[in-house]
Amino acid sequence: MTAESQLRADIVEVGRRMYARGYTASNDGNISVRLGSDRLLMTPKSVCKGFMTPDMMCITDLDGQKIQGDRDPSSEMLMHLEVYRQRADVQAVVHAHPPTATGFAVAGIPLDRAVLAEVLTTLGSIPIAEYATPSTKELPEAVRKYIKAHDGMLLANHGALTVGADLFGAYYKMETVEHFAKISLVARLLGRENLIAREEVLRLQELRGAYGIKAPAPICADDTSAASADPAACQVVQAPIGAGSRLVADAIDRANPLLAHEAEAGEIRLTYRELSALIEDAIRSLR
Ligand SMILES: [Zn+2]
Repeated sequence: MTAESQLRADIVEVGRRMYARGYTASNDGNISVRLGSDRLLMTPKSVCKGFMTPDMMCITDLDGQKIQGDRDPSSEMLMHLEVYRQRADVQAVVHAHPPTATGFAVAGIPLDRAVLAEVLTTLGSIPIAEYATPSTKELPEAVRKYIKAHDGMLLANHGALTVGADLFGAYYKMETVEHFAKISLVARLLGRENLIAREEVLRLQELRGAYGIKAPAPICADDTSAASADPAACQVVQAPIGAGSRLVADAIDRANPLLAHEAEAGEIRLTYRELSALIEDAIRSLR
């Protein structure tokens, strides 16, 4: 099997897995890989990723001009081209709409809290690229802002994008993004996330080299003011200084009896009735 025919078969397999896992519905999503230094092999537009065949793929140049293929390339090709333009190290790009990660993208909540060691090691933080109309020039512009420092990102009100040094590497990052989103959702439903301390996050990022993972972009120095950070140069990771710090302790649901015992020691807890009585007392004393 030639390198090209292997890549065609791999794209079919990745598409099948994405569809089987519910990362795409109908004709959603797209996949591309570098074919040598100046060409791309890409999924065509308007096909279900679960039922592709190797002959369906298109070959384009790096400007998106079709060189070979019966079908037209993906409608999201511009976003892929932008990634390859910005990242010489990237060999493959995967785009899908995995439901939990896309839920975070719709809610406008980035996956940037330091809670899982393996995510910090492989991806770091997962920001949200600003909303842009799919298939337009706006989308590559939104992606450009983050792609230099991130291998995975959410696309606001749209889906997720991951890149890798090979096709399966890019696909596995999509799995990691969706898996991380599911775990984050469960933790937030339970009412708290204990964050990994910044010192440990830095240690984990250093370990990447030992695992043969490309060095991550550094963590932005000031994680409390994401707006001032340059997303092209560093990653915003919500990781408090000092082990055991809790960034989101306030999110504990006091009304949930399952969690009541988790409340911090020394805190005063009141029922709604007790609180109402206290407020009424306070108002009376004001009169
Ligand atoms: Zn899409």
